[in-house]
Amino acid sequence: LVQLTGVNKWFGDLHVLQDIDLGIDRGEVVVVIGPSGSGKSTLCRTINRLESIQQGEISIDGEKLPEEGKALARLRSDVGMVFQSFNLFAHKTILQNVTLAPTRVRRQSKAQAEQRARELLERVGVSAQADKYPAQLSGGQQQRVAIARALAMDPKVMLFDEPTSALDPEMINEVLDVMVGLARDGMTMIVVTHEMGFARKAANRVVFMDGGRIVEAADPETFFTAPRSDRARDFLSKIL
Ligand code: ATP
Ligand code: MG
Repeated sequence: LVQLTGVNKWFGDLHVLQDIDLGIDRGEVVVVIGPSGSGKSTLCRTINRLESIQQGEISIDGEKLPEEGKALARLRSDVGMVFQSFNLFAHKTILQNVTLAPTRVRRQSKAQAEQRARELLERVGVSAQADKYPAQLSGGQQQRVAIARALAMDPKVMLFDEPTSALDPEMINEVLDVMVGLARDGMTMIVVTHEMGFARKAANRVVFMDGGRIVEAADPETFFTAPRSDRARDFLSKIL
C-alpha cells in the first residue's frame, strides 16, 4: 500500500534519510524505533510530503506521490497523521475539530460530517466531550480526538509520530488501546513509538533506524529477543 524506494533526503549537508526501501502492505502495522535524531520523524513527514525528498520514489496505493498541486493534496488526504502534540484547534469545539476537514476538503454536508464525527468520537471514547473545547480535555482525551479527526478523512494509512510521549503515564494506555483497536480493525499503520508493549501487541514488523538508515527490520518477537545488529542490541538495552 505504501512503497518507498531508494529514498534519500538531505537537510543541507546532513544526509538524514539514506537509501530507504520500505514497503507496507494493506492492513500491516509497522513500528519504527531508533535513537533520537535517527530520522524517524523525517521518514513520517516524507510519506505525506510535509518534507520533500531529493532522490527516490514514494507511492501510495500504486500512485506515485507528486511534488505539488491538486494531485498531491488528494493523495495527502489518504494519509492521516497524529503527532506528539495534539494540534487541535483551540477555538473550535471537539465536534468542530473533527468535522472541519471533511466539510471543507471532502465537501461533506454538515449533517453527514457530524454524524460520522459522533461515531468516531464514540469509537475513541470521548463522545461525552463533543461540545467542549480542547483545553477542557485531558491530554489523553485530546490525543484521542486527534485520532478521530484523522480518521474522519477516511485515510488509507495512518502515521503516528510518538503519539504518547507528551502524555502523563496514566493516559498513555487509553491512547494505545485506541491504536490497538484500529490495528485489529485492519488499519494500515506506521507508528513511531518507544512503547514496546504496543509493538509486541499490535505490530507485524519492527523497523529499527539509526543514522538515517533502516538497520534492521523483523517481526517483534524476533526483533526483541534476537536483534541481529549491535546497534539494535545496544539501543534495546537502554530502553527495555
Ligand atoms: P527524535 O527521536 O528525537 O524525535 P527522530 O528520529 O524523529 O528523532 P528527526 O526529527 O527525523 O529524528 O531528525 C533527524 C535529523 O534531521 C536530526 O539530526 C535533526 O536535527 C535533523 N533535522 C530534522 N528536521 C530538520 C530541519 N527542518 N532542518 C534541518 N535539520 C533537521
Ligand atoms: Mg521524532
